[in-house]
Amino acid sequence: MSQFSLELNEDQLQIQKWVHDFAENVIRPAAHEWDEREETPWPIIEEAAKIGIYSFDFVANCFGDPAGLLMCLVNEEMSWGDAGIALAIFGTTLGVAGIFANGTPEQIVEWCPQCFGTPDDIKLAAFAVSEPDAGSDVSSLRTRAVYDEAKDEWVLNGTKIWITNGGIADIHVVVASVEPALGSRGQASFIVPPNTPGLSLGQKFKKHGIRASHTGEVILDDVRVPGRCLLGGKEKLDERIAKAREGKRASSQAAMATFEASRPVVGAQAVGIARAAYEYALEYAKERKQFGRAIIENQGIAFKLADMKMRTDAARLLVHRAAWMGRQGKRFEAGEGSMSKLYAGETAVWVTEQAIQILGGYGYVREYPVERWHRDAKIYTIFEGTSEIQRLIISRAISGIHIP
Ligand SMILES: Cc1cc2nc3c(=O)[nH]c(=O)nc-3n(C[C@H](O)[C@H](O)[C@H](O)COP(=O)(O)OP(=O)(O)OC[C@H]3O[C@@H](n4cnc5c(N)ncnc54)[C@H](O)[C@@H]3O)c2cc1C
Repeated sequence: MSQFSLELNEDQLQIQKWVHDFAENVIRPAAHEWDEREETPWPIIEEAAKIGIYSFDFVANCFGDPAGLLMCLVNEEMSWGDAGIALAIFGTTLGVAGIFANGTPEQIVEWCPQCFGTPDDIKLAAFAVSEPDAGSDVSSLRTRAVYDEAKDEWVLNGTKIWITNGGIADIHVVVASVEPALGSRGQASFIVPPNTPGLSLGQKFKKHGIRASHTGEVILDDVRVPGRCLLGGKEKLDERIAKAREGKRASSQAAMATFEASRPVVGAQAVGIARAAYEYALEYAKERKQFGRAIIENQGIAFKLADMKMRTDAARLLVHRAAWMGRQGKRFEAGEGSMSKLYAGETAVWVTEQAIQILGGYGYVREYPVERWHRDAKIYTIFEGTSEIQRLIISRAISGIHIP
């Protein structure tokens, strides 16, 4: 077991600096343009692939960090550059996390590298759970997966909504219901390989923030995938469903297992936005003069900055604790994963709002990045489990009571 330390080791520091340089020199200068264009920033993804940031090897190396922190450090830096572009680059890891959480070792080896492709032939992946009538309530998914035994194929039908890289990805990891009466215990994850007939992009959504990241509807119309595309394999699914039918406790559900693993990383992205806004506002407050003195010389502004720094650091500590616990295989007994994502998301919204206040009119217009950071931050209280759902998880964990 790796000992917890607040000091980053040489490897972590080196990679953090390398990613920071990319965020500062490549991502940040492009942020305004791609926010306005509201399109996938392919040239930036290509640059990330060329230097190795967008690659399976890099992501596997980050997840392999014995302390569990590297993926969080990388995500904080990328989102410090720009959260929309960072998600356009790392949205693929949501699909990869879905494969990791539910796949067999053979499936992981076969599919995860394909999610990224190569620098000359870049691929994207998506993780599709949410539906028009099933957002927070993942147990009520309507997308059906029916097994065609004669052909050893699964047939998927349904509509997924709000999917990052949805409909433009090469590989979609789709969570569907095999036995609807069992709720989430009757669900499984499926890989939909590139160019599978029947899968198409529906609406592309125009958004409030993270606009460089594509969010789309995914239509599944008689999508047939080979039996080997069921993550975890049929034997394991049959066992799980049999247990659930008998009313016994069945192992972790397809979607939930993925979210458990990804929450601290999502929290780290929110920390990156908060830090960007804090740093910008601090510099601005030292420069901007009103009534003959720098505005930071007023306690009203200085104290805001003190709180912004404190909350950002506190969020990072919660994120690192959860990431470390996850890597050591410790159970989140008090909902520590949820705490990290919840606190970091709400901190990012709060800190970016304070930053707008500190910049005054300059904070409210698009020539300055602060209003964009505020728009970007808001998604962190919504996706990967809303703030209310995180509070539900934490309150159930600490009370042992199934609070509805
Ligand atoms: C930009 C973006 C990207 C996304 N990317 C993906 C993706 O890649 N893959 C994917 O599968 N999904 C994705 N999502 C979907 C996202 O995870 C859902 O939007 C989220 O889970 C909330 O679901 P909902 O929007 O249906 O809201 P609802 O579940 O309808 O919730 C509406 C409100 O009611 C509250 N609420 C609901 N139930 C309770 C309760 N029991 N107690 C208290 N309050 C409650 C919620 O907290 C929220 O405030 C994305 C969404 C967005 C906007």
